[in-house]
Amino acid sequence: MNDKIVLSTWPTPLERAPRLAAALGLGGADLWIKRDDLIGLGGGGNKARKLEWTVGAALAAGADTLVTTGAAQSNHARLTAAAGARLGLDVVLVFPGTRDSAVNGSGNLVLDSLFGARIFWAGDSDPSAMADVTDEVCRQLRDDGARPFAIPFGGSSPLGARGYVDGGEELLSQLPDVEHVVVALGSGGTMAGLIGALGERRVLGVHCGAVAEPAVTVAGLAGALTGRDIAPDALRIRADQVGPGYGVLHEPVLEAMRTAALTEGLVLDPVYSGRAMAGLISAVRDGDIRPGQRSVLLHTGGLPGLFGHTETVHRAVDGLRAYEPEGASPSTEE
Ligand SMILES: *Cc1c(COP(=O)(O)O)cnc(C)c1O
Repeated sequence: MNDKIVLSTWPTPLERAPRLAAALGLGGADLWIKRDDLIGLGGGGNKARKLEWTVGAALAAGADTLVTTGAAQSNHARLTAAAGARLGLDVVLVFPGTRDSAVNGSGNLVLDSLFGARIFWAGDSDPSAMADVTDEVCRQLRDDGARPFAIPFGGSSPLGARGYVDGGEELLSQLPDVEHVVVALGSGGTMAGLIGALGERRVLGVHCGAVAEPAVTVAGLAGALTGRDIAPDALRIRADQVGPGYGVLHEPVLEAMRTAALTEGLVLDPVYSGRAMAGLISAVRDGDIRPGQRSVLLHTGGLPGLFGHTETVHRAVDGLRAYEPEGASPSTEE
């Protein structure tokens, strides 16, 4: 079955990052950024590649409503809303919490509403129960005469992960001798798909704390995708960047975000791509990635989510820096 649809213009750019490479102790030609943050749908990010497959399946099934779930700041939910808008499909997003807890919804929530998605607030149901709540919402939609299609959390089914087999093959055509691809590991489909294209040894996943057993999750998806038996132990996964937990910004990630911003004008997000960068930095420090090896950071996007965490970032960088002129002040003082 190949019902894939096109949701952006491909390929995404692959750029060198020489000043960032130097800051890490790598050579100028060693480090590349795969700019999937620049995917041309709904603010960009990795989830769009998976949606080309999952929304393709929804259309093939005759659906008129996309239903998905995630945290309220989910980039996947935002891009599902954007895909629905582009294709003329209704979208219902199932989030934990209440409308009040997000009354001044910022970041991705602003875009969800701009794209016309409706939100079902699941209250304080257990996060592990969200799949059941989503099933229930689909049942209600069917009772209301709609034809819903549920896309799993993060778009990470074996079908959705095919989007990153595509992404990995695209990268290989741009940089055939790539040795390391560093990627944030959330729901796992992105890393699983990359393994489908690049094999286990070239893909380094940086666990972000979104799933309980990252190696088992990714091995399961990659196994289902490739039809090979993939052992969790064979995967390269770093768990040293989870810190206090999913969605909490901690010092190494902030430092990675600052370094990328100050050397390349490159924006990373506090939940995923900032962690991937922090994992890359620690992989260089402990010799897992060495100078002279071709390394790619997959920039998975997440910029809108950053604006759902602005207080954290402000607190962490001590707010705005003032410019205080040293010479004669041009002010209106007497
Ligand atoms: C979802 C997400 C990831 C992780 O991708 P998974 O396929 O869920 O592992 C990485 N970066 C960003 C910005 C994301 O939104």
